[in-house]
Parts: sequence; C-alpha cells; structure tokens
Amino acid sequence: MGKCILCGRTAVTISGSIGVCSECIRSNWRRAYPILRDKHVRIRENLGLTPETPSASNGFKCTICGRGCSIGVNSKGYCSFRVYDGVSLKTITNDPRSAIGLYYYDPHPTNCVAFPVCPAITGKGYPEYALTPHGEKGYYNIAVFMGGCNLDCLYCQNWEYRTMSVRGKPLLTINDLVKAVNEYTTCVCFFGGDPGPWSTFVLEATREMIRRAEELGLKVFRICWETNGLWNPLLFKKAVKYSVETGGIVKIDFKAWSPEIYYALTGAEARHVELIKKNIEYVASLFNTRREPPLLVISTLLVPGYVDEYEIDRMTKFIASLNPEIPYVFLAFHPDYELVDLPRTSHRHMEKAIEIAKRNGLKNVYIGNEWLLGYDY
Ligand SMILES: [Zn+2]
Repeated sequence: MGKCILCGRTAVTISGSIGVCSECIRSNWRRAYPILRDKHVRIRENLGLTPETPSASNGFKCTICGRGCSIGVNSKGYCSFRVYDGVSLKTITNDPRSAIGLYYYDPHPTNCVAFPVCPAITGKGYPEYALTPHGEKGYYNIAVFMGGCNLDCLYCQNWEYRTMSVRGKPLLTINDLVKAVNEYTTCVCFFGGDPGPWSTFVLEATREMIRRAEELGLKVFRICWETNGLWNPLLFKKAVKYSVETGGIVKIDFKAWSPEIYYALTGAEARHVELIKKNIEYVASLFNTRREPPLLVISTLLVPGYVDEYEIDRMTKFIASLNPEIPYVFLAFHPDYELVDLPRTSHRHMEKAIEIAKRNGLKNVYIGNEWLLGYDY
C-alpha cells in the first residue's frame, strides 16, 4: 500500500517508491516533476550513471541515439559509456569495433516477445524467412545483450547489468559476433540495455554478420531488434531496413502515452517520447511491405496504477490508427528493481487492456506472460 505525496491517497496501485499517483503525475506536473526528477537522479548517481541528459552549452552534440546529449569536455553522455575528450567522441572501450555487452545462443523456441508471430516459433514467413513451417527446434537465436541504456526504467528487468556501462565490461567485438554465426543460427536479436545507444556498432556488426551468413549459405538469417525506440531516426531506418530484408522483426517496447507518465517510469523527456512515436510511425509505414512475419510488434508492460486505462486507450488508438494489423503484446508486470512495492499486474487490469485494445480496432492483441498475473486489485 503506497501513499501519494501530493493528494494523500493510498492504494496498492500507488508506488511509494515513485511517490506520486498517476492522476497527480498527469494533472499536477509542476509539483510532481521535482519529486520524480529527484528519484531518477538519485538512482543514477548511486550507480555512477550520468544523472540527467547532459546539456553543456558548448558541448559535443551526440547523435548516436535519440537522447540528444550535449556532452561537455571529459564528460559522458546519458548512456554513460560515450565520452567527449575535447577532440572527438569515443566510447569507454576506445575502439569502434568493440562494445560493452555479451552474446549467447538461445535455443528455439526462445521467449521472444514476438512469440505469437516469431518465425522460429510459428513458422510464419516460411519458406522465405523460416526454416520450417512449424518452428526451428534444434536451431538457435544469437541473443546480443548491449550494455548501457538511454532510458532509466524504474522497473528495469535487467537492472543487474545497468552498471556494465560504468565498469566498461564485458567487451563484445564485431569479430566475436561474426564468428558466432554458424549453420545452427537462424536469427539475431539485439536487445539490452538497448541497442540504440550502440547504433553505429550494431549496424556494422549486422552488416558483417549477414555477409558471414551468406558465405555459409544459410537459408534464413533474420535480424531482429528489441528496443525502447529512442534511436536517431536516420540510423534507426538502417536498422529497420536489415529487418525488412532478412525477415526479422522490430520489437518496440512502448512504455506509456502521456509524456508525464513516460518520464515517471522511464526518465524519458517529452521530446524523447515524440521521437519514439515518430520511430514507431516509421516502422508502421513499412508494415504492409511484408506481412509474414510482421515487421513490427509493439509490447507494453502493464505497470499497476501507472499504465492505466487512460494510457492504454491512447496508446492502442495510436497504434490502431497506424495499422490495426500491428501485433500488440501486453506484458504482465512483476515487482522488480525500484518498483518492488507494486503488486503483479492483475487479471482484471490485463482483461481491461485487451478489451480497450480490441475496442480501439487492434486485430492482433496478445498476452505475453499470463502466468505472472495476480489478483491484488
Ligand atoms: Zn495523487
């Protein structure tokens, strides 16, 4: 049971950790913002991460991702691994062919967030983009975890890895990834953290991995992205193009609708939310160029009390207006990281989300992890 500092209301769906209820966040931004800001800054400072978007007046304007940092001399970007030394922008690996991250072979069927349409699970896209019409058992996804992120999600499910960007390890090279391609790999998924802040690295890695797959004569080799969508739009287009060409899926985690709620949960500012929506619009505009497997899958984590009916209504209306066929996956929240004082997403909340999405015209709506659902509200 949490209490809202501003209105005094208590409820199981109010997080004491956030400190403010969703209504006050949306309706009383002037008073809510300093509380929310303080929360994000404190968490990041404790981890050694750059606390806020750097905005040095004569700084280096980094355009690698969509955060829009202006990085002062000998300072780091929001991602905390890009450094401006006064001459050029470098990463803390000091080598454009190495990043901070790791990869592993994930046996099919994986727990891909696009599970209802994933070619490795469903055979969708066979024969051009899937090895068999009923999944790819015995084969593997190359799961590439990129260390570092350009958001600050309070419910981050990979928070143990948040300091990878500060520690500068483990190192992951393009050569490692090229060598990882073999006759048993059918797809690659870049996730993290987020691939966005590593855009130039992952785009070059992708180009070379595809070339290796061609050398090996692989019949299918899909390039997928699991991302928050906060990319430089020009570089994002290149990433999407690889998915278009290889039968891969762009999986965007769309976290909220109101910029105020987005900020509370993830630290994204209003201009970032606009950019994320624009990037979603871009992939959606290509959706009809290839129907199977679908190019775009949207997921949303149903954070109790915060990703509420208002948010779900606006988000699903927006996606339906782009294309009602876009698959939409609702994910159940479980207490984690900074949001351990909220319950699991309830069955009622999930059912309401599905109902709203369908009412707004979406035709392909799914529940991602039903077994996590609870009955607390
Ligand atoms: Zn309140």
